[in-house]
Amino acid sequence: MSIAAETKALIEACLAGDPALASLAVVGTAPDTLSAHIAPGRPLNAIGGSSFSPHPPFLRETVVELVVRMQRLRWTRSLPYNPKGWPPEDRDLQALHRKHDKAVVGFECGPGWTDLLDASFVWLHEIAPDRDWAPTQIKEKFGTLRFYWYGDLPDLGDEIISVAENVSSHICEVCGAQGHLRKDIGWWSVRCREHAKEAWS
Ligand SMILES: [Zn+2]
Repeated sequence: MSIAAETKALIEACLAGDPALASLAVVGTAPDTLSAHIAPGRPLNAIGGSSFSPHPPFLRETVVELVVRMQRLRWTRSLPYNPKGWPPEDRDLQALHRKHDKAVVGFECGPGWTDLLDASFVWLHEIAPDRDWAPTQIKEKFGTLRFYWYGDLPDLGDEIISVAENVSSHICEVCGAQGHLRKDIGWWSVRCREHAKEAWS
C-alpha cells in the first residue's frame, strides 16, 4: 500500500461518519511530499465525544494534520522499506525520551504508538516551545492511549492530545499498522488483523 493510500484509509477510519470526508484529498508518493486536505471544521459525528462533552473536542483538520505528521515519521523511520515490514520496536519508543524534552514520563503502552507519540511531541513543541507544561502519565487504558498532562498549553495543544488519543483507537499498539479497537476475553485492545490473530489464536 502506498503512503497516500495508507494515510487516506487511516483518516477515513478516524473520521468515519463525517460527511466532510467527501472533500478529503491525499497526495504524495514519499514522506516529504505527502500532504492532505479536508474541508475545515468540527466533525459532524460523535467521535471523541462523551457524556460530558457530546461534541468532538477537535477539528477535522487537526486530525488530518496529526495523521499526516505521524505517517511522514512512520515512512521515514522505515526507509527504504515499507513500514509494514519494519515496525517500530520498544527501543524506538524509548528513544523518544532522548528526542523530546517533554517526554518525561514512562510510556506504559506498546511500541506501535511510537510514531503517533513522536508526531504529537513534535507538534506540541512547535506550538508551545516555551510553555511550562508536562505529561503526568502516558498509557494504554481500555485499549486506547491516555495522555494526562498539567500546566500551560494553548487550546491547540489540548486539541492535539485529544486527537492523539482518538487516533490511537485505529493504530495497532503492537506494530503501528492500521487496526481496530476490539474486546477479547474481557480486554480491550487495538490490533491489526495480523496481531489480533497472534494474540488470541
Ligand atoms: Zn499489528
